Parts: sequence; C-alpha cells; structure tokens
Amino acid sequence: MRTFISFNEALSEVLDRVRLVEAERIPLSEALGRTLAKDVVSSDSIPPFASSAMDGYALRAEDLTGAGGTLKVIEHIPAGRMPQKTVGVGQCARIMTGAPIPKGADTVVPVEWTQEDQEVVDIDRGAPLGVHVRPAAEDVCVGDIILREGDVVTPGGLGMLASLGCISPLVRKRPRIGIISTGDEVVPPSAQPEMGQIRNSNGPTLQALAGVFGASCMGYVHAKDDPKDIQRAIESQVETDLLIIAGGVSVGQHDYVKTVLEKMGMAMHFWKVRQRPGKPLAFGTIGKLPILGLPGNPVSSAMCFSIYGRRAIDTMLGKANLGGAQLQATMNAPMKKVPELHYFSRGIAFMRSDGTLEVGPAGAQGSNLLGSVLKANCIIHLPADQSKVGPGTKVTIELLPWTDLNPV
Ligand code: AMP
Ligand code: MG
Repeated sequence: MRTFISFNEALSEVLDRVRLVEAERIPLSEALGRTLAKDVVSSDSIPPFASSAMDGYALRAEDLTGAGGTLKVIEHIPAGRMPQKTVGVGQCARIMTGAPIPKGADTVVPVEWTQEDQEVVDIDRGAPLGVHVRPAAEDVCVGDIILREGDVVTPGGLGMLASLGCISPLVRKRPRIGIISTGDEVVPPSAQPEMGQIRNSNGPTLQALAGVFGASCMGYVHAKDDPKDIQRAIESQVETDLLIIAGGVSVGQHDYVKTVLEKMGMAMHFWKVRQRPGKPLAFGTIGKLPILGLPGNPVSSAMCFSIYGRRAIDTMLGKANLGGAQLQATMNAPMKKVPELHYFSRGIAFMRSDGTLEVGPAGAQGSNLLGSVLKANCIIHLPADQSKVGPGTKVTIELLPWTDLNPV
C-alpha cells in the first residue's frame, strides 16, 4: 500500500481501477443528461428538402429585374404539402415558411415585397439568387457524426436525435454509487440530536453529488462505529460500481473502517494523500469493487467526492473530459496555504465587466465548515508547489455543476 502520495498519483490509482459501465437503450424522452455509448451517425439530411424561409413567392430570380416584375401565380404550397407543378418562365408559386421549394424555382421573395391580385403578383424589387431558400442538408449531411461516444445529451442534442429519428439512443447505464456514513455521534437529519450528537449531513450531501455527477444512488446507509455494523453496511452495498464510505478512516480509536475492509479481503491501494482537505483519503478494492474511504468532515468528504468521485463517475461513463470545466481566474484575496499539499479550496468565481474571471474564497475554509460548500460555485486548485496565494495570483478553478458565473 502506498501512503502520503500526491494528488495526481492518488487520482491515477483510482481511475485505473474503475471500469466503463454497460450500455443500454433508453427512450429518447429519458435521454437528457445521459452519456452516449456510441457515435451517432446521421442517416438523413437535415433539413431533408430545400424549403422556404419566408411566407412569400417561390420564383426564378432571373425573371425579375432590379425593379421587380409581374409573375403568374400557378400554385399555393402550404407547409407539409409537396408542390404539384414546375415553376416556368414568368411564373411563381405562393409558398409558406417550411414548404418545399417547387421545381424550377430558385429564390423566394417575402410577401411584404408583393401585391397579388387574381393569380397575378406584382413584386416591387429584384431578389438575389437563392435568397430565402433553405438548402437541403444545410445543418446535417448523411454520414455526419452528430454526437460522439462520451458526449452528454443536452436539450439541443435531444432535439437533433429527434430530428434524426433516433428514438432509442444507446447510452451508458448510470454508475451505481453506494454511500455509507459512519459515526456513533451521527443521527438522522430527522432526529433531535442530544448533546454530543450531530445530524448526518454527509449522507444527503454525497447522495446529492452522486446524482448531480450523473450517477445513480438509491440512498445512503449509516453504520455505527462498530465493526459488525460497518460490515453489515458494506455487505448491503457491494452490488455497486463504486462504494463511498465517509468517516472512520482516520487514526482514531473508533476508526474501524479500514480494519473491517481488510478483514473482508480488501486490497488497500493507498491511504493518505498530500492534499487539503482530505488528507486521510483511503482507496482499495474488494474484487473489482472500488472503495473510496473519505474523511468524515463534511467539507473533506464533499470535496474528495467532487474531485475523485466525479472523475471516477466520468471515467465509468466514458466521458472524454473528466471533472468540471477548468478555467483560469485571478484571486481577489489572499489565502493561507501549506506548501507541498494540493488544495481544493471552495471559491466564489464571477465574471468581471471586462470578461475576465475573478475568484475569492467562499468563506472560512475549515474542513468542518460546510458553509463554504454551500456558498461555493467552484473549487480553487492550488497545486502542491504553489506557496503564496495573494490578490492577483492566477489560479485554476474547476466549476461545480450548479455554477452560474453572472457578473456582479
Ligand atoms: P471521522 O472521519 O469519522 O473522524 O469524522 C471526522 C469529523 O466528521 C467528526 O467531527 C465527525 O463528527 C464528522 N462527521 C462524520 N460523519 C459525519 C456525517 N455523516 N455528517 C456530518 N458530520 C460527520
Ligand atoms: Mg467517525
């Protein structure tokens, strides 16, 4: 087992041991936010036919002079109906937006340029060739790769899949995350804590994060600081793709999690990482099940899951980019930092009026102060080799999924 390793070493240990989850076909109506398991190649053109972009008249541009002209109206073409006639010299067809362009016509003039009387229309100006005609396949050609394996289905992606008739896309199953909170002092959120007890915030926070990061989590299980109870909780969560255990991984007298896991046959890969928060982070596997042991402090567990858990989920989903979007920002306040530890500080980033990003700490950074997670819209990465962090320091921030970078 390795100990006191760097953030990057710890991350590789975890990502090397999580597996791509299986694929499944789901109805298009459920595809939003899901990750595609296969490239989507278009078998159609979009738009499928050349159509009018305006309500007006489809005609041959060469039949008009710069001052317009007078043409015979041979047909009316509403959207959804195929034209029946070919537009010849001196002719045009009244056409609605979205209707197919009739044979012979190459241009559409809007109704505002015209006056129609008894199947004859006067057009008050000339029209450039092709104007107001939407060409076929302008958006998508047959054979185009519309979306790639690993892409998340967005509302626009869903609309495109619908346009192509992909009604049951192949997506990755949601990775199943098991969550166990531990501690004799921890009582359910519904309980009135007695002196010395606290309500369970890790369970709900980690479950919520798992959902936000695209995983499936049925809930959380709580275990007392008792080897038997910890084992019972673990056994109830082995049918998962990643097991998270929060608390009980430090060196306290009642921190039984590691001992129980080892008794259950866990191969321990690392314990302790040069990072803050989350130094006592532990990672092992029982068979193929990866198990992340997070420190119990609410900030440590939320941050370790947001960094390691999120990247593990992204890897299981086959995404190309792991974790939240990373951007450069300028610090607006000093932050204390111990050298040689990688920091995951909670930050509030916003966009200045000049379009650059500014970031500052989201309140006090103690690993027990969940308020910083409440306020944060990003994680400020301060690498191990960085020592001083003051106003003006350029830092990398990682956006949290609920981030909104409105200017202030
Ligand atoms: P531990 O890692 O078990 O030593 O816990 C570290 C700190 O986190 C202690 O102050 C615990 O009371 C607190 N803690 C542990 N589990 C939870 C939880 N589920 N919800 C809130 N705080 C917790
Ligand atoms: Mg504990």
